[in-house]
Amino acid sequence: MDLTEVAPGLHLLPLGISNAYLWRSTMGATLIDTGPPGSGPAIRGALQHLGVPPEELRQIVLTHFHDDHAGSAAEVAGWSGAQVIVGAGDAAFVRGERSGPPPTFTPAEEQLHAVVAADLQPAPACGVDREVTDQDVLDLGDDAIVLSVPGHTPGSIALHVPAAGLLITGDTIAEHQGQVVLGPFNIDRDAAWQSLQQLAELDVEVACFGHGEPVIGSASSALRRAIDPFG
Ligand SMILES: [Zn+2]
Repeated sequence: MDLTEVAPGLHLLPLGISNAYLWRSTMGATLIDTGPPGSGPAIRGALQHLGVPPEELRQIVLTHFHDDHAGSAAEVAGWSGAQVIVGAGDAAFVRGERSGPPPTFTPAEEQLHAVVAADLQPAPACGVDREVTDQDVLDLGDDAIVLSVPGHTPGSIALHVPAAGLLITGDTIAEHQGQVVLGPFNIDRDAAWQSLQQLAELDVEVACFGHGEPVIGSASSALRRAIDPFG
């Protein structure tokens, strides 16, 4: 796996159709998203390559419940008993208590989804140890502020690490063909666009997405130029 350090202590783990991120600090290691089901061996290999024993993984943060992000959470959590942290509005779906609401597709999204999600398996249910809401603070070494960004899913969250000038957006924002875009496959695309605008008001240097390449340097201005090519 090609592991890119996108900011000091933060590595991008490309897991096929989606990205996960590993944050390492003196407080221990945090995995942000877990890829589709079956990503366990790739994540394990990445942790070992980066010198993190899988049984020492401390936290798993899920940006939202979708199968390509929560798909391997149960497996990875089982290695260490890592605390699983999810936005309150998505927690029931991660736990498998209820099915999450499906996206409302635009015609362009319908075509895209048929291609990218053709082989996607459902995420096994995963226990949730902590439900978070807007402005909750996670201790990742540096403080990470949870931002509630509904629209892609009801309980989507982003993580803002002010000390590092860093934003992890989940699927509210993506990179597609060199352009920052509104992430596709939203439950409420107007709310998702509002959430994107809210994130674009932050002052960040690095932005990391659930899909596509991160923006490294002057990320805020790239977010402010985001477009909606699938609308
Ligand atoms: Zn998603």
